[in-house]
This record gives sequence, structure tokens and C-alpha cells, in this order.
Amino acid sequence: MKGFVSLVGAGPGDPDLLTVKALKAIQQADVVVFDRLVSQDILDLIPADAARYDVGKRCGQPSMKQEAISLASDYQRIVRLKGGDPYVFGRGGEEALLLVQNDVPFEVVPGITAAIGCSAATGIPLTHRGVSRSVTLVTGHVQDGGEFKGWSGLVNSGGTLVFYMGLERAKELRSGLLQAGATSALPIALVVAGTTARQQVEITTLACLEQAALNLKGASPVLMIMGEVVHLRAELGNMAESLLRSVA
Ligand code: SAH
Repeated sequence: MKGFVSLVGAGPGDPDLLTVKALKAIQQADVVVFDRLVSQDILDLIPADAARYDVGKRCGQPSMKQEAISLASDYQRIVRLKGGDPYVFGRGGEEALLLVQNDVPFEVVPGITAAIGCSAATGIPLTHRGVSRSVTLVTGHVQDGGEFKGWSGLVNSGGTLVFYMGLERAKELRSGLLQAGATSALPIALVVAGTTARQQVEITTLACLEQAALNLKGASPVLMIMGEVVHLRAELGNMAESLLRSVA
């Protein structure tokens, strides 16, 4: 007898940003498998009698991807909780493929991805009339030995760029973008733990990105929003952040 797996997006941290569908899946779970990006406030919503598996430190290892499959023979309703959206840089696609290959029935419940959550919580619209007509979500992570060749495409888009997992690669991001013709004055917001009570925002420029990243060393998780839209924060940021503090 095989259980049913819900690959659930937990959003960027604030539990109020879960979808109703995600909340229902969590409340009905017999077992919940989660990793380190899922906030404590959201883990507190897991029913007391549901089993819990913390796969946080085994990120990306085959054993973690197998977890939901082996659990499907022991439990009815399995929830695999993932930070943000499962299909945005969350390896959710890999886990879904494995479920298909093993004939395990499943659904994907979308979540608010970090770019969308951090945008609202920092007062930085990702698109804005006359300023940016596109937004590109990019991972700063490259597979071992790989080299990213898409810098010109990113710069030529002329729109907002949002880098996930980019902090450790600030040096490469800076040189890649500058060589492709980006201006050194390009404004950048580094958002730490966006949407949560410990949200922190550093505003810098492409020229100073490496230093700004060094100053944040050890902070996690960090998202980088790059583009002229960052200037809108001067007017929209205070209101967004005062509301964050009031719910904390
Ligand atoms: N599936 C997730 C992304 C997983 S990759 C999503 O859709 O959001 C992990 C990266 O996401 C982190 O390195 C960081 O860049 C970003 N991230 C996730 N949550 C964040 C948050 N609350 N604040 C800032 N960055 C976050």
C-alpha cells in the first residue's frame, strides 16, 4: 500500500505566507520531512502526533531524495516541506522525478518563492513601469567544475536580476556582470532572512558587492536583488519593514 506525497512549498519564512492548501496538507500529515530552510514558526504547525524527519544537513544527498519514497510504504499522507517554492531552486523537480519513477502518487503545492517574499518585505517591486520590464531568477550556484556563460544575456535583459545562493560567489557575480557591460553603480539589495523578524537588508552597488558580501559572511539565507528598482525602497521600504516588526 503506497501513501500519497505532497511536495509543499513553505514560503520564505513568515507562516502567514503559507497557502491555504499548504496549511491543510501540513495539518493532515502523518509524517513531515523538512530541511533547514523551513522556519520554526512553520514547523510549529505540524500536528503533535505526526512523525518528523529533519533532513537539513543531508541537503542534496541521495538518501534525502529517497526519504519520501521509503516513507510512502509506511505512512498514508507524507508531506515533504521545502522552503519557498518546491520547483524554484529547491530540487523539487528531482524529487518529483524520483516519485514518478517509483510509482508513488504525489502533488506539488506551490509556495511563495524568496524573490517574491523578499520583494514585498523590503519595499522593492521586482518590475516597475518605466524602470524594469522583466525579472530573472538566477542561481549563484554552479555545478562542480562548471562555468556560467550567460552573463551577457542577464545584463542585456535590462531587467531586475534576483540571485539565489549567490553570497559565496559574489566575486564571480561581480566580475561576470561587469565584463558583460553592467554599470558598476548598479544598485543591489542583500536581503537576509526576508519576511522573518530577523530580516536584515544591506544596500550596495555592483562595484562594492564583494565587500558587502564579506560583511555578511555567515548570514543565511541571503537573496540578492539587483537593478534600478532597488531605489524604490527609499520610499516603500519603511512601511514594509515596520509591519514586519509589528508582527514579530
Ligand atoms: N525553493 C526556494 C529556494 C531554495 S535555494 C525558494 O523558492 O525560495 C536557497 C536560497 O534561497 C538561499 O540561499 C537564499 O538565496 C534564498 N532564500 C530562501 N529563503 C530566503 C529568505 N527568507 N530570505 C532570503 N533569501 C532566501
